[in-house]
Formats: sequence, structure tokens, C-alpha cells
Amino acid sequence: MSFCAEVKNELTTIISSACCYKAEAFGMLLYGRAFGLSEISLMTELKSVAEHYSSCIRDLTGVTPTTECSKAGKYKVTIPNREDRIAILNYFGYTGKELSLRVNLSNLEQSNNDCCSRAFLRGAFLVCGSVTDPEKDYHIEMSVTKAKLCDDLLQIIDDIGLKSKKIIRNNSYVIYSKDAESVEDFIGTMGANNAFMTVMQTRAMKNIKNQINRRSNFESANMSRSIEAGLKQVALIEEVLKKIALDDITDDLAELCKLRLENPDISLDELGKMMKPELSRSAVSRRFKKLEKIAEEIKAK
Ligand SMILES: [Zn+2]
Repeated sequence: MSFCAEVKNELTTIISSACCYKAEAFGMLLYGRAFGLSEISLMTELKSVAEHYSSCIRDLTGVTPTTECSKAGKYKVTIPNREDRIAILNYFGYTGKELSLRVNLSNLEQSNNDCCSRAFLRGAFLVCGSVTDPEKDYHIEMSVTKAKLCDDLLQIIDDIGLKSKKIIRNNSYVIYSKDAESVEDFIGTMGANNAFMTVMQTRAMKNIKNQINRRSNFESANMSRSIEAGLKQVALIEEVLKKIALDDITDDLAELCKLRLENPDISLDELGKMMKPELSRSAVSRRFKKLEKIAEEIKAK
């Protein structure tokens, strides 16, 4: 099952309080396939959503919708009887003769807090929304066919305090959010607590993985720096040894040169530990400085 289907299935199991139930049903009806005198309908691939839509209408208005399932597995819920459609429209404060459909806010103002707005958003998302699996990408959107209904929904989303944007795509008005935090907030606001936890955990895991990657990049950068330094020292030693025999260099320097020639790829720390007696990193570094000076003197001659 897709992540989106999981979210929607979870949303349909939320038991709304009386005020929110009306707002949620209203969201489903208004943003479903059609909400008017000639047609009230919903198309969905999810049985849970079709059933939820049906029960909301039946519980609130007493009208029993008709549900059909196509061979492709799509559910279509309709209200075949015109009188029933009028009853539903009237219940939510519409006549069906409105020139342009807008959100009747009185259906969302049954309570003093924004519980009904969140329920309305949940209803709308169930019928026109989609969300991408957070493992792949952070993206949540709602696609609306009517410009004014899109703007009304955007306003409600904004009033709740969620961040989202609008674009026009294929004759549809799309409200979307695509950063991790907004997707998380969106899902949490609609009340899908399990999905909310999933997004949060995925986000945390991704952060940890990023940190590990950054660290190992940093380590390999460090490693190549130390290999590069080692190779430069080998070149330096070879240059010096062209002019001066190893035996003619002071013992402490000679030992270091030998060890470096045998181990061109180890760090100064490791090199120091191989010396007898052991030397600190800075002591090793000082000896290479001495060697550089000798090389310079040779060049100057
Ligand atoms: Zn409410």
C-alpha cells in the first residue's frame, strides 16, 4: 500500500466530534468530483474513502448514496435522486443555484477553536489530496478544479498556520508544500498521528545518514591530504639523498627518512609512533622542517 493510501486510511478512522463531523463531511463534498444540483459525486481508488464519504452523508442528512466499483478498482459514489441532492445542498447552506461555488464558512464555525477548520482540511485532503512517501521526497498537495474554491482553501490553510503555495497545473489549481517540516505539520494538523510519526522518524533517519556521509567525506578528505603530504615528503627526501648519503645525515633524521620512504601513506602521528623513541606529531613535523632547510641549502650551493 502506498504511503498516501496509508495516510488516507488512517484519516478515515478518526472519530470527529459533532461540530467537526459536519465540517469534515463538507470538505469531502465540496472538494469531491461534483457538488451541485445536477451532480453530487466522488471518485476514489480507496474503498475506505468511498465508505467514509457515504457514511458522513447518510449520518448527517439521512440520504443514502449509491456506490459503484469499476473494473479498474475505482469507486464512484453518487446521489442519483435530485430531491436528495437538494436536501444535501440545503443542509450545508446552498441552493445549488450559486453562480460561483465558495466555501460557506458557517459550516466551519461551530466551535471557537480551529478544530472544525482542521476537520474540513482533512475532508478536503481525503478527496483531492495526495502525499509522497517521505523516504522518496517531501511533497503534499491538493488539486482543485475551481480557482475560487482553491483560494478559499488556501486561506483556511493559511489561517490554521500551515505553510503552502499555489501553482496552476493542467487546468487545475494545486496547493502544495514541499519541505519536510510543512509536510509533517500538514499531516499532524489533519490528525494522522501514525503517519506524522513516520514522517518524523524518516526525517530523523535521513539527518543521521547525512551526518554520517558528511563525516566520512570529511575523513576521506583528511586522509587524502595526509597521503599528499606523505608523497611530498618522499620527494623531498629523494631530492636530499641525491646529494647527501643517508649515513651523512644525523641519525634522528636518517631514521625518519627511512621510515617515510618505507611508509609513504601514513600520517605524521603514525610515523612518530614508529620512531624509537616515540615522537609526537609536532616533533616529526619539526624534523621534516629541518630536512627542508637542508634541501634549500643544497639548492643554494
Ligand atoms: Zn469542531
